[in-house]
Amino acid sequence: MKRGYPPPWACAVLLALLLLWRMLGAPLTAEQFSHLETPFWQARALLPLRVARILTLWFPVDSAEPETLPQEAMTQEERALMAMSDMTDETIAVYVAHEQNLVVLPLEDYVCGVVAAEMPAAYHLEALKAQAVAARTRAVRQRGQGGCALHAGADVCTDSGHCQAYATLEECREKWGDEYQPYRDRVLAAVRETAGEILTYEGEPITVYYHAMSGGRTEDAAAVFGQAEPYLVSVSSEGEEDARGFYADAFVSYETLAEALDSTPDELRRTFAIAQYTQTGRVSTVLVGERHVPASELRESLGLRSTWFTFSMDEEGVTFHQQGYGHGVGMSQVGANAMAADGAPYDHILTHFYPGTSVETY
Ligand SMILES: [Zn+2]
Repeated sequence: MKRGYPPPWACAVLLALLLLWRMLGAPLTAEQFSHLETPFWQARALLPLRVARILTLWFPVDSAEPETLPQEAMTQEERALMAMSDMTDETIAVYVAHEQNLVVLPLEDYVCGVVAAEMPAAYHLEALKAQAVAARTRAVRQRGQGGCALHAGADVCTDSGHCQAYATLEECREKWGDEYQPYRDRVLAAVRETAGEILTYEGEPITVYYHAMSGGRTEDAAAVFGQAEPYLVSVSSEGEEDARGFYADAFVSYETLAEALDSTPDELRRTFAIAQYTQTGRVSTVLVGERHVPASELRESLGLRSTWFTFSMDEEGVTFHQQGYGHGVGMSQVGANAMAADGAPYDHILTHFYPGTSVETY
């Protein structure tokens, strides 16, 4: 028989097989899955799993198919910075915002991920320990009080703007690079050495707020959130001045400011001023035309670092001369690190920033 091209039916079968492979190809990893934006592609990515499930229903096999649906694609170990489930039976329901997924983690694993995400791991161990207790307290309190208000069924979410930020093992690897091993060890030590400890006031876990850098003095909760707590009062925070970004300028054009404040560039040129200060010297409200606008609103809409500012105006806009970073309530992380550098143990750091509280085991 003469050698020639394969017959057309063979080509068609080959093509069909190739198409089938494209459609039913290898399941995606959670990472790949999270990059798929449209429901159509997510459905396509899930197709092989669905088909596999149907097949195993029809033709049961002894060795179960590995679970690769997105909520299970990442193992507990991958999720957690380090497996600490040996330390406690306590668990917490965490809504992982970027995966849009609810998982249950050992509490101490969760605390590791929060410390890794919320505080630079290069900080002194005692500061990291203070952060671990603060993060654990917030989690335990929320768990006991109905959980995260945004996500049904979750005790906490990983949205830093709402509950607390949380870093997975993968994110830590990426963020820490060559320092991964030593940083991981420090975070682990901070959590292990404080395992089970929370901050209480009159026997109850406290409402925890913390922020990056106070600017030298923390703020009353009442001035920022409108709700006073006896342990969320203004205290000094020494040794912050040397930190990078203690002072920072931010320029905002009149046009941008007008948009943020529902005003006009002309009105702002004529009237923009500081109307009122808080007792600690932060700006409480600014004047726009006849209106008083809370400085915390201004900070949020402009992305300012702090409400502790003065400002100067020129032809183009307003330059905010800011001090500190964050809302200023509760523990200042830079301040905690400065205290730790000075030899303060973590419980002193905590009772300094949250006066009247005690460190207890839950
Ligand atoms: Zn939340």
